[in-house]
Amino acid sequence: MSAECGLCERQLEHGFLCPGDTLALGERLERIPKLYEALGAFLAPGARPVSDRVSSGHATPPLPVNEAVLDLRYGGIALVLESWRSDVQRSRGWGEPAIEGSVERRVLAASRWLGMSLEWIAASYPAAGDLAREVREMEGAALSILGVLPDRGRRIGQCVAVDPSGVICGAVLRHYTGQTRIVCPWCTCVYESRDFANLHLLQPDEAA
Ligand SMILES: [Zn+2]
Ligand SMILES: [Zn+2]
Repeated sequence: MSAECGLCERQLEHGFLCPGDTLALGERLERIPKLYEALGAFLAPGARPVSDRVSSGHATPPLPVNEAVLDLRYGGIALVLESWRSDVQRSRGWGEPAIEGSVERRVLAASRWLGMSLEWIAASYPAAGDLAREVREMEGAALSILGVLPDRGRRIGQCVAVDPSGVICGAVLRHYTGQTRIVCPWCTCVYESRDFANLHLLQPDEAA
């Protein structure tokens, strides 16, 4: 059986999401609750959810907040993650998840749950690519409000792993700030920090 990654369309032997995109999705799901918190700083001091603002008798002043932040904070992120979570649960024949607590807790609960289900999602969930794409777009929207560009990482060379037929993997490996190990996006072999320097020496055609 052959298949392709629902996100990058790379050929896969089985499943719906390639190892690299699965790893990236997992990292995004870990970052999203922190991004959600950070977005709070972009609301004006004392700003409250829209529902608290309705019954003022005075003329409504213009909202001193970024509407996009309100969308992402009050509903956006939580609803997107929760709807994916309930679809995954339905696909597995499980019941609907209970939704409770503050929006902050809901974001955390849904992203954790999806993170813990990653293996199943990559292997058995046909909509895995759409899920990964939507989470990536949501992170992009949050980062653009925060004015932070995603860390593109530093290119440290190509993967030197050799498969059983003697072919060198060759995937570009990137190091991100603070990262102590690198997982190859193609063959998933793991480089520990002590390997980084050796990796440089082993490069087949590195100019400098
Ligand atoms: Zn992929
Ligand atoms: Zn590799």
